[in-house]
Amino acid sequence: MHQDHCALGLAPLSTDVPTVSGAIDIAQGKPVQPVTLVRPHAAARAARFFVEKFPGRSMYAVKANPSPELIRILWDNGITHYDVASIAEVRLVARTLPDATLCFMHPVKAEEAIAEAYFTHGVRTFSLDSLEELEKIMRATRNAADLTLCVRLRVSSEHSKLSLASKFGVAPHEAKPLLFAARQAADALGICFHVGSQAMTPDAYADAMERVRAAIVEAAVTVDVIDVGGGFPSSYPGMEPPPLEAYFETIHRAFESLPISYSAELWAEPGRALCAEYSSIVVRVEKRRGNELYINDGAYGALFDAAHIGWRFPVALLREPESTVRDHPFSFYGPTCDDIDHMQGPFLLPADIQTSDYFEIGMLGAYGSAMRTAFNGFGSDETVIVADEPMVSMYTTVEREAASNVVKL
Ligand SMILES: *Cc1c(COP(=O)(O)O)cnc(C)c1O
Repeated sequence: MHQDHCALGLAPLSTDVPTVSGAIDIAQGKPVQPVTLVRPHAAARAARFFVEKFPGRSMYAVKANPSPELIRILWDNGITHYDVASIAEVRLVARTLPDATLCFMHPVKAEEAIAEAYFTHGVRTFSLDSLEELEKIMRATRNAADLTLCVRLRVSSEHSKLSLASKFGVAPHEAKPLLFAARQAADALGICFHVGSQAMTPDAYADAMERVRAAIVEAAVTVDVIDVGGGFPSSYPGMEPPPLEAYFETIHRAFESLPISYSAELWAEPGRALCAEYSSIVVRVEKRRGNELYINDGAYGALFDAAHIGWRFPVALLREPESTVRDHPFSFYGPTCDDIDHMQGPFLLPADIQTSDYFEIGMLGAYGSAMRTAFNGFGSDETVIVADEPMVSMYTTVEREAASNVVKL
């Protein structure tokens, strides 16, 4: 049942996968190391939702979780385009899915990376936010005539939990010369933006689309692609967003009213929303000090966001019989020797939780799994496929209790 992470390169939920169980079964095995649980069915469901309901093309932002197993699940469920940001991501997806379409959406790239992406991996779509980068792309591709060039606009991150507003993007009123030059060089011209991660309201996209409109009107260029980027939310304690359909409706309405050609395409680059529900971890309490739990994963493991930006993930005690004691707020210390290996929370767990109890930390499929390190000798690659429901879902209202009749394959 326990597999090495790297050995998981099997088709999801194929008959080759030995056992499928739920989080509680993992705890009963009393693992010494933290165990990553993956839920292929949850990622498949998210992919199908975007493919069926987003009113344009959904491409997966690989940085959110570059696991080859996940990328294959998304592909099998209709995601054909991948937003890659480094040459290593280009190579990874090209190797994993030879037929996928890759879009190199980092606005500042190494010239060698552009050349390899174009000539070796067939990448034709690139983003940029400066004339310098445009010159770089044209040099690296030897003035290719078949490029889709997406100019990244700077938009506000005010509606999002994680800002992406400072580093990249050209201000709408300064976009005219770049849009004009990119139009001359490109086969297809796009405008892209990113409203920031975990956008808590569809207004984030409505506001951004107004900036797109202003830029198009001012530059007076023909635009072939509108790419609304990522930012689609997942659900976490204290951060329960409106349904994704509301985001899609707002984006569709704004797109339809832009001054662009009838044949223009709408793209999105969801990262978090496609993979947050894909994985979680089971951890053990090694010590309790009042309201602080010392656990065997932390800031250098899957909990970077919990430590450094105060993200609150859902938690559930895995004990049978279940505790009947009321919930109590806890903070966590991770296993390394650093004071900053601390997750403030608050995380709500039964007040009688104690050393050697196990609990699950949910919704770690986005960014959590991607940012793990082995600092100080802690962390583990042990991964198990489970069939129970994620702790929270944007894609189903089924509660875990009701859905936990274990699927035997
Ligand atoms: C990080 C990133 C994404 C994915 O963002 P989410 O908030 O995870 O959906 C998409 N596009 C670009 C350019 C990014 O940098």
